[in-house]
Parts: sequence; C-alpha cells; structure tokens
Amino acid sequence: MFDSLTGNNRVKEVLKLMIAAGRLPGALLFVGEEGIGKKLFALEVARTLNCRSPKDNEACGTCGACTRILKFNFPMSIDSDDWKQMIWSDHRDVGMVVAPKRVLRVEQMRAIEREANFRPFEGNARVFLVDEAEKLNDSSANALLKVLEEPPSTAHIILITSRPAMLLPTVLSRCQMIRFSPLSPDEIERYLTSNKIADAKSAKIRARAAAGSIARALSGDLEAFTAQRRDMLAVVEALVVTENRAQLLRLAEQLNEAQYKEEFEERLDVLETLIRDAWMLSLGVKREQLVNEDLAGELEKISKRMDPTKAAAWILEVEDMREQLLVNINRKVATDSLFLTMASGEIPQKRFSVK
Ligand SMILES: [Zn+2]
Repeated sequence: MFDSLTGNNRVKEVLKLMIAAGRLPGALLFVGEEGIGKKLFALEVARTLNCRSPKDNEACGTCGACTRILKFNFPMSIDSDDWKQMIWSDHRDVGMVVAPKRVLRVEQMRAIEREANFRPFEGNARVFLVDEAEKLNDSSANALLKVLEEPPSTAHIILITSRPAMLLPTVLSRCQMIRFSPLSPDEIERYLTSNKIADAKSAKIRARAAAGSIARALSGDLEAFTAQRRDMLAVVEALVVTENRAQLLRLAEQLNEAQYKEEFEERLDVLETLIRDAWMLSLGVKREQLVNEDLAGELEKISKRMDPTKAAAWILEVEDMREQLLVNINRKVATDSLFLTMASGEIPQKRFSVK
C-alpha cells in the first residue's frame, strides 16, 4: 500500500489515481532529492500493477508477487559484469538497470527495449526502473528513446533521478514527470520511531539533521552531528551574546580543522539553521517550529539579544560562502572573513542595493 511509504502524499494520490484509471503512462520520470524514497515508490507502482490480491486498487504487500518484487538479485561483486545487464527481482516482470560505473550503457537500454516487448510472464505489467537516469549519456539515452516514445501497453519504464537537468530534452519530453518533495522532519521522525530505528529523543535530533532525506537520517552519525552543533552554537553565542572576536577566530580555526570538505559544508548548514532558528524566535515563532527544537532554551537566550536585520544578513553571508566553496576558495581565509564580517556589526549592503 502506498500509505506504508513515508511522505509525498500528493504523489501517492496521483499514482493511485492513474493506476486505478488504467492510465499510468508508459514512461515516467521520478524526480527529487536523494534518499527520499523514489525507488520505493517505483516498486510500489510495480506491486500495485502485479499484486495477486489487490484491495481498493492497492497492492496487499503480502502476497507472493508483492514480496518477490522487493527482492532484487544484485550481483555479489562490484566488479561483476552482471551490473551491465538487467538486474531482475524475484518477480520475472520487474527489473532494474543501475549504472555499472559512471554511465548507463547502451546494452542496458537495449535490454529494456527487448524485455518491454514481451508479454508479462506472471503479472499484469512489466516494470523497469532506470536508477540514476542522469547517468545516461548521449548513446544510451538515444537507445532508450524509441521504447520511451511508444512503450508497449503492458510495459512501464520508470526513470529515477535527483538531477533532471542532466537529462537530454528528448528524454525529458517523452516522460511524464513526477516531482517528489523532501520529507518533513516530522515525517522522518515518525519513520525512525515507528521502525524502531531510533528512540524518541534521538529520532527528533536525527530527523532535523537529515534535511529531508531518510537516507541521510539513517547514515548520519548522531554523535558527530551533536558535536558539530555544539561548536556552531558557540559561534552564534560569540557573535550575539559575548561578542568575543578572539573566540570567534579560534572557532573559525576549529571549523577549518574539519578534515573533509563535506563536513565543512555540514557545519555551515548547521550554523545556518541555528542562526535561522534564533532569528525565528526573535520574530515570535513558536519553539515547535524550530529545526533545533531541542536547543530552544539556548536559542531563546540568543534571540533576545539578536538584531533580526543582522540575522537575515548573516544567513545571506553563509549562503554566499557556500556558493564560493564551489569554486574552491581558500577555506581558511573565507571562514575568517565570514566570521569577522558577521561580527563587525555592519550589515553588508551589497545584496540589498538595487542596480
Ligand atoms: Zn500483493
């Protein structure tokens, strides 16, 4: 049942309606961030079409067809040539292609075309997933075009991507696009607690750190995140409460110790959510609406001394810095300058000027 999946209720409704009306397009494109369940939704579509005892046009989730559709026979070794083939589930009508390395290959697309033309072996429809469709190159995309254009009535091809801009217009124009939204912290929190992945307290923190992605909530290192947040809270306190520049520079140095670029950006994310939360509190927003709700006490103290105009400018500064990171600036210099600009008490005018 679609309701067993987390989030994206609007997408659930659309897919259910299309399937119930027998009008599910043959070529679909699922678009949305990593780790929010696009593949599970695609497999639920496959189940709904092939379930042996559907209820109200939905898959039962327990019959032989439903259980086998979720079991994929992925090759054991990453070097295996089998990655270049169709990877089948235990259901003979449901398969998936995955990029063996950086690109999806022509022969994988030919396999989809060939298999799509067979009648279903045991169910009602053949369903093929193309994971990471942004890895189609010109040749493999072209090999897929014909079957996308006119898929047999019993076949559905679902392309999945977090980067639709990388797809050729010819591919985009042949697919019905379905957009997925990031999950809300509450949705992720419920997922973590109802699946007994985390207790109530850590689920709350994890869900808020995950920025909309269940995959991130699962992989995130809670201890590291808590430590990052403590460091960044110290930055905001030094900016607003103690106005201690020497401490700020020390913290800037610490931020640069972050060994990997990835962690550095995570820290900027955390810093931004803390500033935003304190800002929201100073504007009278309720505690429950904060990203870092569990730090509401500390944030309230900060918000009392915070100038909302400055906070808005700081957020822009942080975002500016994140953009600059893309062009490989000297991180040390940039962090020092970010903190000192924020501490200078001046509101940077450049962004508010109208040309
Ligand atoms: Zn079933």
